[in-house]
Amino acid sequence: MHPLALYVHIPFCAARCPYCDFNTYAGLEAQFEPYVAALAEEIHQAGARLDRPPARTIFIGGGTPTVLPPDLLARALAACREAFAVAADAEITSEANPGTVDQVRFAALRELGVNRLSMGVQSFDDAELRWLGRIHTAAEAVAAFRAARRAGFANINLDFIFGLPGQNPATWMRTLAQAIDLGPEHLSLYSLIVEDGTPLADQVRRGAIAEPDDDLAADLYEMACKTLADAGYVQYEISNWARAGQGAKGKGQEARGREQEAGGRNQPSAISHQPSAISHQPSAISAVTTWSTGATSRTWASARAHTASTGAGAGGTCAGCVPTSSGSPRGRRRKRRGRRSAGRWRWARR
Ligand code: SF4
Repeated sequence: MHPLALYVHIPFCAARCPYCDFNTYAGLEAQFEPYVAALAEEIHQAGARLDRPPARTIFIGGGTPTVLPPDLLARALAACREAFAVAADAEITSEANPGTVDQVRFAALRELGVNRLSMGVQSFDDAELRWLGRIHTAAEAVAAFRAARRAGFANINLDFIFGLPGQNPATWMRTLAQAIDLGPEHLSLYSLIVEDGTPLADQVRRGAIAEPDDDLAADLYEMACKTLADAGYVQYEISNWARAGQGAKGKGQEARGREQEAGGRNQPSAISHQPSAISHQPSAISAVTTWSTGATSRTWASARAHTASTGAGAGGTCAGCVPTSSGSPRGRRRKRRGRRSAGRWRWARR
């Protein structure tokens, strides 16, 4: 069996961002411990079913894993190591919101064996961050990045969102310049999507907020492609760039983990996607956790494993992981010229 890539979902956040439709909740601190207990049990069951197979990466996503106290993250990671033969040099990533971390928290993550961070920065413009409902400022995001470096993280991804209604290209360029100046190993750029059921969608429907403009988003995307290429970043998927020379182990995990979650987060299933001949041969296991939140019992696709990508190269996609994207932003823009109402490319973003 190919080594697995484990994705562990932490469905909690300090606050809900109005654009986000991920399976995550704020104000459920009382459920942290019961959830992690159920998650650990589920991980053990998944590992036992597969006879403790090897795993080469672990991606702890959400939600915001860094809202969990380190001892609970330690339990989840311990369960992974007990249930799966996690490689000694495994890449272990945690997502992080800059508003929930400091150097002490980063040091704790390092002690747990986390060796890669994925931080949802979204913008280095405070007005945009307020518009997005983020809980941190641009300065706090910069400080978080530097604290992570001081704590020893040598492999960091930063997430950004572009295509806000009326977004100023100059502001976007400043965000990109700040990102390049910090020098993360990886960058993920996602266009803003108005997702059904979100407060943002409600505001757009009521006319309180303009709908994001596809052509503006495409312009910003193309600016980013050129700017990042000039800065030495290699684009290997629609929304993902890595610094030249970086190892491939983590490539694809960023998007692939999110896609996997996006594909199955509300559809718990023993098998979450079909094998693909395109870039890897996943035999996916989507474990299901049920735990009680007060009077309500909820079912989660909370931990899942699939085989590691063997070639996250340009455009390589897995049939089971395929997001609802139907092509590159450029291609979509060309289509939109003839059909203005075409949907936006759709990539998960944090
Ligand atoms: S965007 Fe990130 S921090 Fe905001 S609610 Fe969604 S998962 Fe939580």
